[in-house]
Amino acid sequence: MNLKNISLALLLILFSSTAFTQEKTLKVRPDAFPPVEEYGDTKALQMANTVDEMANWDRYPTYETYLQMMQQWTEKFPTLCHIDTIGTSVQGRLILSMYIQVQTFDEMYRPEFFYTSTMHGDELTGFVMMLRLIDTLLNGYGNNQQYTDLINRTRISINPLSNPDGTYRSGNNTVQGSVRYNANNVDLNRNFPDPFGTAPLNPQQVETAAMIEYAQNHNFRLSANLHGGSEVMNYPWDSYTSAEQPHPHRDWWIEVCKRFVDTSRNYSNSHFRDASNSGYIAGGDWYVIPNGRQDYMNYYHNCLEMTMEVSTVKKLSSNQLPEYWRFLQHSLVNYIGEIHSLPNGTNTISDIVKPTLRVLPNPTRDRILIDSETSEPVLIFDMRGHCVIERPAGTRLIDLQSLPCGIYILRCGTSTAKVVRQ
Ligand SMILES: [Zn+2]
Repeated sequence: MNLKNISLALLLILFSSTAFTQEKTLKVRPDAFPPVEEYGDTKALQMANTVDEMANWDRYPTYETYLQMMQQWTEKFPTLCHIDTIGTSVQGRLILSMYIQVQTFDEMYRPEFFYTSTMHGDELTGFVMMLRLIDTLLNGYGNNQQYTDLINRTRISINPLSNPDGTYRSGNNTVQGSVRYNANNVDLNRNFPDPFGTAPLNPQQVETAAMIEYAQNHNFRLSANLHGGSEVMNYPWDSYTSAEQPHPHRDWWIEVCKRFVDTSRNYSNSHFRDASNSGYIAGGDWYVIPNGRQDYMNYYHNCLEMTMEVSTVKKLSSNQLPEYWRFLQHSLVNYIGEIHSLPNGTNTISDIVKPTLRVLPNPTRDRILIDSETSEPVLIFDMRGHCVIERPAGTRLIDLQSLPCGIYILRCGTSTAKVVRQ
C-alpha cells in the first residue's frame, strides 16, 4: 500500500468514525438496553385509592382502583363494552382489555384495533393515557360525532396494563417501586417470536403467551404498544435496519407518524423532539432489537403495529398526566381511525427476504447474538483489520466487553456485518 492509499484508508476510517459520532448524538433508545433504574422524586407519584380520586386524572390508580374502574365502565356502558381477560401474570394479577363495540348484526365486518400499554412496568404514562382514552370514548359515544363514528365503524380493544407485576412490584397500593421486567425479571419486549427466527434468551413468559393467544383469537389489523423514556413514534421494523429490510408499508407508516406528531404539536410544540427532529423513526435505524412485540405482530399476524414512546420520563409525575393527555388525546384517537385507510397488501407483510447474517442488538454495550444461516467460525476484526475475537462454528453469543468502544467487522463464512460497541 503506497502513501496515497494509506492516507485514503485513514480518511475512510476517520469518515466512518465521524458518521458514527453523528449517530451517537441520538438519544439512547430506552428499549435497547436494560436501563439504569430511575430514582426520581417518588413523592410525585400520587396514588388514587378510590375511583373518585381518579376524577382529575392526575394520579396513578392502585391495582384495586384500576380493577374497579374497568368494572364500573362495564356497568355504566353494558351494551357498549365488556372486559376481555387476556391472561394472568406470574404473580396472579389480571391482564385486562376493554373491548368496545356496538352490537349490531354486522359487527363482525368491522375491523379490529388494539392498544396495549406498559409492557415495561415502569413506563407509566401510557397506562393512565389508555384508561382516560377508554373513559373518553365511552362517554363520548352519542355525544361526540368523531367518537361515535369511530365506535360505530371499529371494534376497539384497549389493554391499559400488560405487565401489572412490573408496575406494582412494591405492592398493589403504589407504583413507586415499578420496574421494567415481569416478576421473573424478564423483559417482555424481548420475549416474542422474532421475524428472523431468533429464539428469545429467556423462556416464554405467561404474559407473552397470553398476548400471543389473544392475538391469535382476534384479527387485529392495526395496533400500537405504548412505552416511555423517550418521545418518538417508532415504526417497524425493530429487527432490521431500513437498509437491510424496509417495511413494505414504510411510506404509509411515515404519513401516519407525521399526522400523529403534527397533531400533538398543535397542542404542545415542545414534544416528540428528543430522538429525532421529525418525531418518528424506523425502529431498526435507531437500534436493532430482537424478539420485540411490534415486529411479532407485523410479521406473524400481518397486523400493522408500531411502538409509541409517549413521555421522556418513564415514571412521569402524576401532576403532569393531564398535560400529557392534552397533547396526546387527539393523536391517540385519530390513530384508531387510521384503520379505515390501511395500505393495500397488508396480508403480505411477512413475505420478506431475510438477510443471511444478523447481529443483535447493534449497537451493543456488551453481548451480541449472532444469527447466521451458515455454520462457520465467527471472526471479529477491528478497523485496522486485526482479528480481535475468534470463536468456533455455531457460536451464537459473544461478549464484547473486553473490546474498546468503536466499530468492528464481524465475519461468518462469506457474510460480514458492521458491529458497533458502545
Ligand atoms: Zn418500553
